[in-house]
Amino acid sequence: MTDKDKRFPLTLSSLLSKSDRGNAGVATPRVATPQTATRNAAGHVAPVVRVAEAQERRAAELPQRQQPLVSDSVRRAMVMRLSAQGIKDTMVLAAMEAVQRHLFIEPGLAAQAYVDASIPIGYHQTISKPYIVARMIEVLRNGGVLNRVLEIGTGCGYQAAVLSLVAKEVYSIERIRPLHELARTNLRPMRIANVRLQYGDGMLGLSQAAPFDGIILAAAGLEVPQALLDQMAIGGRLVAPVGARHQVLQLIVRVGKFDWTHTTLEDCHFVPLHSGTV
Ligand code: SAH
Repeated sequence: MTDKDKRFPLTLSSLLSKSDRGNAGVATPRVATPQTATRNAAGHVAPVVRVAEAQERRAAELPQRQQPLVSDSVRRAMVMRLSAQGIKDTMVLAAMEAVQRHLFIEPGLAAQAYVDASIPIGYHQTISKPYIVARMIEVLRNGGVLNRVLEIGTGCGYQAAVLSLVAKEVYSIERIRPLHELARTNLRPMRIANVRLQYGDGMLGLSQAAPFDGIILAAAGLEVPQALLDQMAIGGRLVAPVGARHQVLQLIVRVGKFDWTHTTLEDCHFVPLHSGTV
């Protein structure tokens, strides 16, 4: 293992010592969309090729009989379903097509990876279903450029990998240490240079890296913690499931220093947001 291998995904401490490194050294995206062309022109090149190459190497290690269930065409079919379900953002659809979801779950469950369902990842947690991942990121992006995004609830790291293809910098916090480690293990071979993982209580946010122009919660609280609202940039967007038994997806936009607008989007079902770390 080279020094470079050891560094990915980057830790928060490495970020803080080398802030705003951007996305240097990443390859050109394989999926060309008008959005990627625009972003490339702006100097932000998403690491789609690297993700794809690392994932192809890992996919080749799966038993032969599972290969057809996790093939590129199965993932393409998933993306077509997402499109039929109303996801319109081509950059989000391209990211969903690029990231191999089956590599984030136990090999025994890999055959279910591209079904629109949540899947257990251990510790009573689940990887969110593809539709809700795509929907939340589409709402977060709103067709614009995402510079700095914070995810609460890294889980297995899947959504962070998708976010890495649509945002310039992604910070993701997980409160369950073995899941934080799992995400690190899952993401390391993908060499994603713009994701920083943090073990901690996401309800407190990540003030060292704030403000964020996007915040996404992968777990539902009864309300969105004030610390997260305070860490949004003016004009920033936050997407979160809110509620207990009945949950709704909420979009919060910070319209001023002391002003936030709330919009309820649709029903959803997420694992609960908990405080503290374990
Ligand atoms: N985005 C994840 C989904 C994980 S499920 C994925 O792609 O796999 C939600 C995660 O939120 C769980 O791992 C849970 O431990 C985590 N979580 C719940 N409350 C949290 C908190 N306060 N801070 C950080 N993570 C939290």
